[in-house]
Amino acid sequence: MQIAKKKTGKTKKAARDAMIRLVLLGPPGAGKGTHAKVLAQKYGAGHLATGDILRGHIREKTELGNKARKTIEGGGLVSDDLVNEVMFDAIGHLPAKSGFILDGYPRTIGQADALDKFLQKKKSGLNVVLNFKTSGEVINERLSGRRVCSECSANYHVRNMPPKVSGVCDQCGAKLIQRKDDQPETIRHRLEMYDRETLPLVRYYQNQKILQNIPGDYDVPELQEEISKLFDKLGLL
Ligand code: ADP
Repeated sequence: MQIAKKKTGKTKKAARDAMIRLVLLGPPGAGKGTHAKVLAQKYGAGHLATGDILRGHIREKTELGNKARKTIEGGGLVSDDLVNEVMFDAIGHLPAKSGFILDGYPRTIGQADALDKFLQKKKSGLNVVLNFKTSGEVINERLSGRRVCSECSANYHVRNMPPKVSGVCDQCGAKLIQRKDDQPETIRHRLEMYDRETLPLVRYYQNQKILQNIPGDYDVPELQEEISKLFDKLGLL
């Protein structure tokens, strides 16, 4: 009885350790959202994209959305307290045995510290951080051609991933728009914010020995192949 109990405990821990609890790190336009969607399907994990969640609040005109709208449209960062609250709530609502992919969070050292503390309490710390190394040229090309659905937030690109009917979402039929923060001046500001606030997280997760650099310029299938190999090597499910 004693032995059986121990074994089950071990198996449970092994299963928990193998479940992906992943952060995607990289500048705007690095490819985080695109890969997050594919990985979430493949590994049955929850995809939590801060930008999408915040834009949902703006669409619904919630108190939080009203607070965050100007900052987001100007390409600044929403306050740590606000984003932490939104993300802890989202993680807390995932099914108990679900892994997760955090896309666009954390973006400051303050957020990373708060997230570590939150996950430690749940005994489910991060097991990998994928750092997208994407060139400036590719980033600008991706962001300037990006179009998003005004209703369901599906992403398109005018050349690389056009919808079947120009300007219309394949998934829900709503109108496609260019995000306000995808204008050249705002893109520049977002990239500056990334360098100043988010880049220090590379060192932060390097110190935790969970950072893995990946080539963000690769095509989607090619990079997925690389990530699959990496996850196999790390024993993640
Ligand atoms: P991108 O990664 O392309 O900048 P997102 O959709 O992830 O786009 O984010 C859009 C905007 O939402 C950001 O420019 C910022 O204003 C806000 N935002 C998203 N995630 C965070 C975060 N973790 N902390 C603060 N602000 C955030």
